[in-house]
Amino acid sequence: MDILSLSFDELSSAFAENSIQGFRAKQVYEWLHRHLAVSYDEMTNLPKALRAELAEKFPINTCKPERVQTASDSTVKFLYSLSDGEFIESVLMKYKYGYTVCVSSQVGCKMGCRFCASALGGYKRSLTAGEILSQVYAAQRHAGERISHIVLMGMGEPMDNFENVMKFISLVTDENGINLSMRNISLSTCGVLPGIERLMDKRLQLTLSISLHAPNDAIRNAIMPVNRKYPVDELLALCRRYAETTSRRISFEYSMMSGVNDSDECARELASKLRGMLCHVNLIPINEVAESPFRPSSQERIKSFSAILSASGISTTVRRKLGSDIDASCGQLRLKSIRERGNSDASRS
Ligand code: SF4
Repeated sequence: MDILSLSFDELSSAFAENSIQGFRAKQVYEWLHRHLAVSYDEMTNLPKALRAELAEKFPINTCKPERVQTASDSTVKFLYSLSDGEFIESVLMKYKYGYTVCVSSQVGCKMGCRFCASALGGYKRSLTAGEILSQVYAAQRHAGERISHIVLMGMGEPMDNFENVMKFISLVTDENGINLSMRNISLSTCGVLPGIERLMDKRLQLTLSISLHAPNDAIRNAIMPVNRKYPVDELLALCRRYAETTSRRISFEYSMMSGVNDSDECARELASKLRGMLCHVNLIPINEVAESPFRPSSQERIKSFSAILSASGISTTVRRKLGSDIDASCGQLRLKSIRERGNSDASRS
């Protein structure tokens, strides 16, 4: 049983089924979600025999850091191994307002976006709520300070793991846990319409972030296979409805790829489609990925693109490039490790 994925009520029932006294559930929940304990040995107010019993019946499957890379701007990239030997990644970023952690929701990704290293490593499985949560806890332990913001923007498509992601959100915002504000959570999707509809029905106060990256089907089909199923105009119509229904501003992520989606014409088309929507556009200078055919846009191009959007009244920012001297784009470290594992397997055979 994945104990980190259990709500307090679920934990209490599981303990009751195992004839463990009720007050122990409160103690263990506090150790896991307030003190961020990674083993029962840390739970010093529990008798030794009980700790041994719990370790056997309810193992704590936290992610284990395999590699930690710190960039010159103090962005930290973690490669974690999971209990089944799979790898995932998280990134810890320091901003003026505090620490933000970007977490993965799946091992690999099925969506196949052509500019993304996560897709190159192949899809393996979805993460449990506890595995997503343990990335936040590990980052907080590393930072030695409270994490103030979470972005579900790492490896994987959160809408393809909807139930576990929702469970994660309820655990991370639990007032008996680290009690993060819902408003400080961003959930990013490449545009899976049924997932956006389900999220809209929940009326959560989080920020919905859309990986848009193109203003029309011709360009988006070429770089994001999901667009063939859920075309741009349908996606944007739903986003408009989402913003009106929830009164929450939508964040559009737009990675600037030289000669692909960064022309003034693209900017004008995007501006005309977003006009009047409660939204914000984040222009992202992409990191170079050796395997990727895409190259970053020039500073001048980004400036010109941004100026066209702003002149049309669209709130726009150019994202600060963090961690560019480490492999900070999602999926890059995992890819490296899979390759290294492949090389060492090859040299053994
Ligand atoms: S950009 Fe996101 S949705 Fe697309 S392949 Fe990468 S992880 Fe998946």
